[in-house]
Amino acid sequence: MSKLRRPRAAVDFDRLEQLYPAAPEYFDTAWLDDPRTIESKQLERLKVRAGQAQRVPFFANRWDAAGFDAGSITSLDDLVRAPMYTVDDIRASIEAHPPFGDYQGVMPADAPREPMRVFTSGGTTGRSRPTLYTAWDREVGALLTARALYLQGIRPGDVVLNAWSYSTHNGAHIMDEALYKWLNCIVVTTGTGNVTSSRKQIELALEYGASAILTTGDYLLHLAEVARDMGIDPKADLALTALPNIGDAEELEATFGVPVLDSYGFHEVQWVAVECPAKAGLHIFEDAFIVQIVDTETGELLPDGEQGSICITEIYKTGSPQFRYNIMDLSTLYPRERCECGSWLRRMAPFAGRGDNMVKLRGVNVWPEALGAIATAVPGATSDYFVRAYREGHRDEIEVTVAAEPDTDRAALAAAVEAELSERVGVRISAVACRSGELDRLTGFGTAAKLVRFADER
Ligand SMILES: [Zn+2]
Repeated sequence: MSKLRRPRAAVDFDRLEQLYPAAPEYFDTAWLDDPRTIESKQLERLKVRAGQAQRVPFFANRWDAAGFDAGSITSLDDLVRAPMYTVDDIRASIEAHPPFGDYQGVMPADAPREPMRVFTSGGTTGRSRPTLYTAWDREVGALLTARALYLQGIRPGDVVLNAWSYSTHNGAHIMDEALYKWLNCIVVTTGTGNVTSSRKQIELALEYGASAILTTGDYLLHLAEVARDMGIDPKADLALTALPNIGDAEELEATFGVPVLDSYGFHEVQWVAVECPAKAGLHIFEDAFIVQIVDTETGELLPDGEQGSICITEIYKTGSPQFRYNIMDLSTLYPRERCECGSWLRRMAPFAGRGDNMVKLRGVNVWPEALGAIATAVPGATSDYFVRAYREGHRDEIEVTVAAEPDTDRAALAAAVEAELSERVGVRISAVACRSGELDRLTGFGTAAKLVRFADER
């Protein structure tokens, strides 16, 4: 096994840090690059990444069909000629080439030479969507995450509770790697409230003097309530210096007394953009990404200032490419201007919702249609259903209503649907069973061409 290359040998760390400076030095270097430097780095990295993507069947086939060739890129404007893809194309790739699809730049057989990890997303219905990350991709991804956490107030040497779910998803793991490997923080791996009780989380945070508890804003506000019940003042006693960006920013700032700085990322590409203290948009890490905004319907590139779907190209990886991935998250790109903080990095608006119907329920992405499919498959349910998202206290909630077959015990059916949803989705979702026909008013059955299955009342 002379060919075995261990993770420490698989990454040239000197080169990595030269290309992608880590926090805190990043904020004195690449963060302050002038527009020409930013764009020339992007073009150089884009060309390399396009050449690598073209060797991956998923991209090669699509690019061939669209007449796009990686070698034809001579300016950043050429990127728009590369065809986009969405999660539906990823799903189709997995169906055709299970279990990893044909969109990965590396495969498990390469692992002796190219150490890798796999994390998955989705999986509410059908297969999970895997992404294989090389050692390089993990390191740069963690470094980007560390930049965001630093800007949000976490400092080297801090004790930090990581209360995200350590699971098949990337989220908790990339935070862990960022904190440990790139910020020299001491991570307390509490996991969610199911793993470490809320009281215990508070006790640990107090005992070790934690500066942050990484979790959703909803859960952090819940922890504040638990703390008060324990006679602990969330602001004075916990004294957190950084807050999460998912949840009610105003309520979080009032409860903990520190600012919420927004950020944007998703698990395949890790951290993309983060807000600076000027709070005038999220600066994109442009040494690692090119962000475009496209029309959600037509896919056409939109001018600066118009809201549309985020189409992302990473220019930092060596493994599985994300090259013009239309993620269907809504945002707006601002013109390149110098920010109060001194940075010329382009800024984007905070996440403004989904181009489609996805709901983020306690950190888990759920689709109303997928919940409907699960609920209506329960014996005693008809194919008629309706999903409602609403706000209760600090949390987003979802309620699924199914119409019952005649002579079905509706209370028992509702309980069975709840159990099935909890089992399949992994979060608690309340269910109601009604009589057949009772949903027609909501779905438009008998009057509308396309039935309405979802209401977002948040
Ligand atoms: Zn700024």
